[in-house]
Amino acid sequence: MFLALVHLRTIACPTCREVLATEGARSIIVDEAGDPVVFSAEDQPEGLDVVLACSLEHEIELAVPLNISVESVEMTPDDAPLAVDARVVA
Ligand SMILES: [Zn+2]
Repeated sequence: MFLALVHLRTIACPTCREVLATEGARSIIVDEAGDPVVFSAEDQPEGLDVVLACSLEHEIELAVPLNISVESVEMTPDDAPLAVDARVVA
């Protein structure tokens, strides 16, 4: 399964103010190559660190579940807006 971050509030780049996620938006979790990361049902996403990058490549790091929660993509409402991808920090 794939996981998505659930944004409960708007996130803007602190440097250039570009909006990366709006309230209610989802970010697909991707690997360094930009491909969605496959999680098994037993995987615990707790402790995962991800970064959101704006178009100028400023990065905002988020820790799961401290800063943000995740849900399986199958549960994501189809009409949820899509935010920028969340890249896993190796
Ligand atoms: Zn920026």
